[in-house]
Amino acid sequence: MSTPATTLTRTEPSVSTAVSKELRREVLEANLRIPRAGLATLTWGNVSGVDRQAGVFVIKPSGVAYEALTEEDLVVVSLTDGKVVEGHLRPSTDTETHRSLYLAFPSIGGVTHTHSTHAVAFAQARRPIPVLGTTHADTFNGPVPVTEALTPQQCATDYEYNTGQVIVDLLDRDDTRAREVPGALVAHHGPFTWGADATKSLEHAVICEAVAEMALHTITLGTVEPPQHLLDRHFTRKHGPDAYYGNPGAA
Ligand SMILES: [Zn+2]
Repeated sequence: MSTPATTLTRTEPSVSTAVSKELRREVLEANLRIPRAGLATLTWGNVSGVDRQAGVFVIKPSGVAYEALTEEDLVVVSLTDGKVVEGHLRPSTDTETHRSLYLAFPSIGGVTHTHSTHAVAFAQARRPIPVLGTTHADTFNGPVPVTEALTPQQCATDYEYNTGQVIVDLLDRDDTRAREVPGALVAHHGPFTWGADATKSLEHAVICEAVAEMALHTITLGTVEPPQHLLDRHFTRKHGPDAYYGNPGAA
């Protein structure tokens, strides 16, 4: 393609301008970690990351194999109306679910959805993942809750957006609750997790699957109610004003 030599004003390039290269890279990397973490079958699962200043989020395209995925394949979508802003592929079918979560919870910077086996088992049984020990309490300040099943009306129209809305309703649109329990199970479907950014949302998906697996084993053996003071101690040493876990700047 050539540009007319007489053109005095330059037109902006039509790709890769709506979001930073860093956000694209982070979202790509987080998506590639889904199969690496053993959370994906085929192409199931997707991660997005939001740029609230730009009013857009970046998400995996629909049905593209992880091994073939590139930064250029990612799709940029408007937060306001869900329209594609940039990208040559269709966005994930779950895009509207991500969008409804971003709109309801202002602290969310990234969203991950998977069909990881043990978390799905709880979702299909329509049971929350109970807090049975400190591994769970380190990240989730309470059970990972499960939604109601979607109604015929919610399935018939705007199904994907309503899938997010049942999570929003479950948490009473409470941003603090969303921060303290960064994930939920959609009944008969699977886990959606979120976090301050795309990377954190993916890590919460990994943890959600791990604690679901541990919980299933524990339930098989027979559960013993863990003491609340122990669980509180674990959550507060990692989160909130008195947190002291980890090292500043350490990866
Ligand atoms: Zn799904």
